[in-house]
Amino acid sequence: LMQISIPLNFIGFIYREIRQGLADIEEMFALLRVPAEITNRENAPNLKVENAAIRFENVTFHYDANRPILKGIDFEVPAGQTIAIVGPSGAGKSTISRLLFRFYDVTGGRVTIDGQDVRDVTQKSVRDVIGMVPQDTVLFNESIAYNIRYGRVNASEEELSEAARMAQIHDFISTLPEGYDTQVGERGLKLSGGEKQRVAIARTILKAPPILILDEATSALDTHTEQEIQSALDQVSRNRTTLVIAHRLSTVVNAHQIIVLEGGLIAERGTHSELLARQGLYASMWDRQREANEAEERLRAVREAD
Ligand code: ADP
Ligand code: MG
Repeated sequence: LMQISIPLNFIGFIYREIRQGLADIEEMFALLRVPAEITNRENAPNLKVENAAIRFENVTFHYDANRPILKGIDFEVPAGQTIAIVGPSGAGKSTISRLLFRFYDVTGGRVTIDGQDVRDVTQKSVRDVIGMVPQDTVLFNESIAYNIRYGRVNASEEELSEAARMAQIHDFISTLPEGYDTQVGERGLKLSGGEKQRVAIARTILKAPPILILDEATSALDTHTEQEIQSALDQVSRNRTTLVIAHRLSTVVNAHQIIVLEGGLIAERGTHSELLARQGLYASMWDRQREANEAEERLRAVREAD
């Protein structure tokens, strides 16, 4: 009896976890990434958003206790403004976005939206006001329409295709025999990283939430497509509180504030021109990218001349 009761319990546990996870893509992320102890406080109220101002107050965080990732992060994003986070890979940029979305809870300090600690309100109400384009998008094993509509389930056909157009994915979808009804994911059409990113961008455009998180949202796209989508993203982020994590610095020059993260600490902060004038880490990153771009252009010119 003992032998069988344990696995049955376990299967019941997994079944409940999976059923809950599939009900909600963000819950699915949670299932994959969030330690089990992240739960709603008893009788937690819903987040009340008025301006969608964000604050990180002396935030520390680690995944493993013996390896600190964020070592005291302070910043605020005033309502409707855009903050950019840049820095070397592994610096902790995506971790910041995960704490705001409450994939994880901080290990010290606090994260607030309009003054409310995200740990004191329901997880769902936090995620409802945030549109997140993550670094690696996971899609439902459902139709493309379902995956985009997930941003706003009652959107009309016109709104759906308009969002897809803005995300530069409508034309691609139109070439598929089943169009928007095409099944994607493991049992359906395998989309490339860039196509998945564009589906996630369309979903976020459709959701039009008060808060946007764009985590290297266009990193899998070629420069041309990136530029086309960038203007759509600029449009969506206007007057919305936006946290943008970028590897191509050309996409963050207009941010109200740029934070340079290095080794879990804020190394520099300011506007693009302030940071260039400082001639520090940001300025050297900028120079390096400009040189790489110029080298690429020279190479292209040589190829075209041949
Ligand atoms: P960035 O986005 O700046 O490249 P991340 O925030 O993704 O950096 O990661 C910061 C550090 O945390 C990295 O060293 C990474 O390996 C580590 N890390 C990220 N996710 C996890 C995880 N789920 N478990 C343990 N370590 C992690
Ligand atoms: Mg990252």
